[in-house]
Amino acid sequence: MPAVRENQAQFRALGVSGAPAAGRLTTCFALGDGLVVDTGALVHGQAPAESAAVTDILLSHSHLDHTLGLPFRLGHGELRVWGLKETLDAVRQHLLGGDIWPDLSATASWNEVQAGAELEVAGWKVHTHRCSHTVPCLAFALERGGRKLVIVGDTRVDEGLMTWVASQEAPACVVECSFPDRVSDVAVRFGHQTPRDLRSWRAALGSDTRMYVTHVKPSARDETLGECRALQDAGLTVLEQGDAFPL
Ligand SMILES: [Zn+2]
Ligand SMILES: [Zn+2]
Repeated sequence: MPAVRENQAQFRALGVSGAPAAGRLTTCFALGDGLVVDTGALVHGQAPAESAAVTDILLSHSHLDHTLGLPFRLGHGELRVWGLKETLDAVRQHLLGGDIWPDLSATASWNEVQAGAELEVAGWKVHTHRCSHTVPCLAFALERGGRKLVIVGDTRVDEGLMTWVASQEAPACVVECSFPDRVSDVAVRFGHQTPRDLRSWRAALGSDTRMYVTHVKPSARDETLGECRALQDAGLTVLEQGDAFPL
C-alpha cells in the first residue's frame, strides 16, 4: 500500500442527499483519495481520474441511494468492496446480476465484514457496529494517525448504537436525519431519524463531538433544516454536497 500524503487525509462529502434530485447526489463520503464510504455519488459525481483513484469502498448497506455508482466503477482498475455479507450478496445478485448492468463483479474483490469487526482498509483502522435500519446496515469508526471520524449509516434511534459511537470518543460524527418531525412515524417505519432524534444523539455524545447531519430527503429539505436550526445546537452542522474538511 503506497504511503498516503498528509494533504490527502481529507473528508469530502461527495453526496449527502437522502434521495436524488436535481443537483443533489446521494450518500458518498471520501476519505483521502483512495477510500469512499458508500457510492451514491461515485463516478457520476466525480471526474474519471478521481473515481479511478478510489481503491476501496466501504458499503453501509445495500439500498440504491448508497450503492448507485458502484456498477459504473467496476472494470476501471483495482477495487476492493467491503460490507456485510447481506449487503454484498444483495448488490451482486440484484445490481450486478447481469440484468441491470453487465456483471463485472469479478473485476473487484468482495470482502465480508462482520458487525463489531475491526479491520484495516486503505490505511484506515475501521471499527464497525450495526445500525437499526430496514436492511442490515453498518456504522464505521475510522481512525488513522490519531485522527478519527465516525460515519453512521441509515438508522432509526438506537441506544446501543449511540452508546457505541460515544465510546469511540471521535471529535466528529456523521449522522443521518432524513425527515421532518411532522412525519416521524414514516421515519421510524423506514428506519430513519428526524431532528428531534438529534437531541438524543447530543445527550449521548456530550457537547464536545461535532455532529454532521446528512441524508436529508429533498422533498422536505427546508422544513427539516429549519427544525435542525431550531435545535440551537452550536456543534451541529448540516452537510452540504461538496463540503470538505481536513481530518
Ligand atoms: Zn437505507
Ligand atoms: Zn439511504
